Amino acid sequence: MNSQEALAKIVQGVAKFQREVYPAKRPLFERLKHGQQPIAMFFTCADSRILPALLMQSQPGEIFIERTPGNIAPKYSDHVGGVTASVEFAVMALHVPLIIVCGHTDCGVVKALLEPEQAAGMPALQSWMRHSQPSRERLLREHRDAPTEEKLRLLTQYNVLTQLENLQTHPAVAAALSRDELLLQGWVYDIATGCVWSADAASGRFELLGGAPE
Ligand SMILES: [Zn+2]
Repeated sequence: MNSQEALAKIVQGVAKFQREVYPAKRPLFERLKHGQQPIAMFFTCADSRILPALLMQSQPGEIFIERTPGNIAPKYSDHVGGVTASVEFAVMALHVPLIIVCGHTDCGVVKALLEPEQAAGMPALQSWMRHSQPSRERLLREHRDAPTEEKLRLLTQYNVLTQLENLQTHPAVAAALSRDELLLQGWVYDIATGCVWSADAASGRFELLGGAPE
């Protein structure tokens, strides 16, 4: 698909939204012009295959979304940028009671964490991936000889857990956690099956969320 075809497809989508979807939800959109009170911050990968609203069946105004390559959330001390500002705003201004970090299967960043040569020639990505170095180190420490597929599965989980740890270094998150006003959860979304695996920050054990799709 070339640029013009891509733009035409997207413009068609906007037209359909304006013709069919917006009118059906007009009262909701009119209410939302006054502000937002999202029930969660959803922190996920930039990958095009993850549609948070589709996955959680959420409505406009419900989920505050931040996305980065590999759903990486750097430690507070390592990075002041969009992620830091988003986390601060979501927790301090919007008072979200829940942050979900959602990784996914077949993640390009996780694959490059396992095989760094996949990020060759992309210095910005290499630099970004260093924020998940502890997950790679844990994998090599505990499962150095596992088959590649198993390594990828585990590294996808460890990467999510590393970001839950990183988020706890953000002062806004630490303060909300200490007041018991915030829950951190880690998810792995399986693109092929629709399954979601969930772990809390304390246990780090992933369990199937809500059963498997029919
Ligand atoms: Zn990804």
